Amino acid sequence: MRLLEWEAKEIFRDYGIPIPNGRITSDPMEAREIAEEIGGPVVVKAQIPVGGRGKAGGVRFAETAEEAYEVAKTLIGGEVRGVKVERVLVEEKMDIQRELYLGVVIDRGSRSYTVLATSEGGMEIEEVAARTPEKIIRMTIDPVEGFRVHHARWMVKQIGLIGRDLLRGSDILLRLYRIAVEMDAELTEINPLALTSRGLIAVDARLNIDDNALFRHQTLLERFGESELLDLTEREREARKLGLTYVELDGDIGIIGNGAGLTMATLDTVQLYGGKPANFLDLGGGAPADRVEMAVSFLLADPRVRAIFINILGGITRCDEVARGIIAAREKTGVEKPMVVRMIGTQEEEGRRLLEEAGIHCLDSMEEAAERVVSLLGR
Ligand code: GDP
Ligand code: MN
Repeated sequence: MRLLEWEAKEIFRDYGIPIPNGRITSDPMEAREIAEEIGGPVVVKAQIPVGGRGKAGGVRFAETAEEAYEVAKTLIGGEVRGVKVERVLVEEKMDIQRELYLGVVIDRGSRSYTVLATSEGGMEIEEVAARTPEKIIRMTIDPVEGFRVHHARWMVKQIGLIGRDLLRGSDILLRLYRIAVEMDAELTEINPLALTSRGLIAVDARLNIDDNALFRHQTLLERFGESELLDLTEREREARKLGLTYVELDGDIGIIGNGAGLTMATLDTVQLYGGKPANFLDLGGGAPADRVEMAVSFLLADPRVRAIFINILGGITRCDEVARGIIAAREKTGVEKPMVVRMIGTQEEEGRRLLEEAGIHCLDSMEEAAERVVSLLGR
């Protein structure tokens, strides 16, 4: 889950990292009011879940409230980097003397966090990393020892901060690390961290949270649930509401599997035989009949889906439950679409019997089943 800038900034503020004054809005008139309240030059920033907004015209300056209104009006409803802008953040414009960079990223190789800092922050950060990697100071953190005050001080000293700024900078970096750990973040970043006459301020903020840890951040979902849904298609949003693990693809063969690995293999096999999967749908382990019914009904209701391939490896999932679910979905929706089922494992006999009775043929080879479903569509 990628938080938007304003959301990440709210978290940063909770953790005591200084951010500019400002507010979020979807209304140009309100943008004018916010600018009036601020009472000076402002920056109007498109809130989209991608970076590089500065270069793409998504970060605009306005000297007056009237200008803020005009800028907000062009940004809202328009597109920046191919993404529709629904809201803007209106903030006081900072007088920036220097742009620094601070980041905490997951390093899967070392199974720990790596803390990054450079004096060359701002919009050219990728170039800095590519051309002058030595300017980026990194530190791999021992998770047991943690990131300590002396580590943070050493790092910000390396990027040229001295005196008061060194103390403030290391304090910010320590807080950033705490956010990373406590929020289960994959990436926590301030770019730029601006050196201003008022000290160091986080002018931009990024916070990407590990989706697998979201269950530990229920309040976050309630607070900023929209971002989470921002990247999803209409159908994916529906599936999520039903609690289905579903990804929309652009083909016409509906796929249901149990287990992410088997479902992926099913997509590949269908593709291999010349078919085009319409989706990824993983039932997970031990799905009862009503859950199977829900999944099958979901695909039956999708007008793009012309045939369905259900691939089940019975372990904790019982084949008879799957069969009941499939049959119930067909009966209750009354939708007839060609179905190919490959099913082996726990309660296989009973499952097959139920399906055969309902006129659904069951295969035991995944390849055969994939070939069958593709040929059903006349390919
Ligand atoms: P990004 O391009 O999506 O990373 O958006 P940023 O929030 O980082 O803004 C891009 C650039 O705009 C920054 O690197 C700054 O140079 C500039 N910028 C953003 N806010 C301010 C501000 O308040 N004052 C000044 N002077 N520049 C700003
Ligand atoms: Mn930035």
